[in-house]
Amino acid sequence: MRTLRTVTALRAELASARRAGRTIGLVPTMGAFHAGHVSLMERAKQETDVVVVSLFVNPTQFGAGEDLAAYPRDEQRDAEIAEAAGVDALFAPSVEEVFPDGFQTTVTVRELARPLEGAQRPGHFDGVATVVTKLLNIVGPDVAFFGQKDAQQALIVRRVVRDLDIPVRIEVCPTVREPDGLAMSSRNAYLAPAERERAVALRRALDAAEAAVAAGERESVAVAAAAQQAMEPYGVEPEYLALVSAATLQPVERIDVDGEILVALAARVGPTRLIDNILITANATNGRP
Ligand code: AMP
Repeated sequence: MRTLRTVTALRAELASARRAGRTIGLVPTMGAFHAGHVSLMERAKQETDVVVVSLFVNPTQFGAGEDLAAYPRDEQRDAEIAEAAGVDALFAPSVEEVFPDGFQTTVTVRELARPLEGAQRPGHFDGVATVVTKLLNIVGPDVAFFGQKDAQQALIVRRVVRDLDIPVRIEVCPTVREPDGLAMSSRNAYLAPAERERAVALRRALDAAEAAVAAGERESVAVAAAAQQAMEPYGVEPEYLALVSAATLQPVERIDVDGEILVALAARVGPTRLIDNILITANATNGRP
């Protein structure tokens, strides 16, 4: 596996593969790899000939007072994990390489970026949409792989690709979880042992939402109440807990509408902010491992 730090070096690295008609897969990440990241790399390996992983802690998607400075960074460990997963190229540019002096262009998505994470983290999705657009332009992949763990992000990326006619297929991969159900996240490393035990509250809430729907509940308010109640024993309160259309992210009042419903949840466990979600439908549940 080669590590490339500039756009020019990465493009040169990929040029011969592209000329030879080999397909290129991209997995955009911020590093601190866990099994969720590895699952995307493995999926990319299965579906494309040359796998590029980008490792870039994108400052523009962190708000003031968020954890940019504290974000876990260990490029050497990440490189070993990526290499073991069969990744061909690690693109690890500096902030100046991606956002040189004079940079002044932003990709903004409107409605899809407003609710949920967008409401809690102003500007976050501008940062995400802009950097993902750049990474897609830099790498020129045939397929790019994202996690369902960040459901709103995946939806926004799909929208950007359609709206800006970027020639790439977006694949969204299932959420990889710890044995107790906690969604894997680089931010789980912030959790003290007692917080780590309480962090399972998010998954328990989503389980309770799923169980309520399976038992016939169709009112979103009641489903959300059941979910919130399931978190209480852990002393964890949701920042938001919303039942929304998985296509538009608009709130749904009843579960019997057509199409999938996203149950989206964010909560702080101690100082650490975690998110999770599941997809449900009136007839069956999915989005589960
Ligand atoms: P991050 O490094 O946190 O920006 O994540 C990079 C990619 O990995 C994003 O597409 C995430 O949605 C995805 N990802 C993060 N956590 C998980 C997980 N537990 N399971 C599957 N994919 C994940």
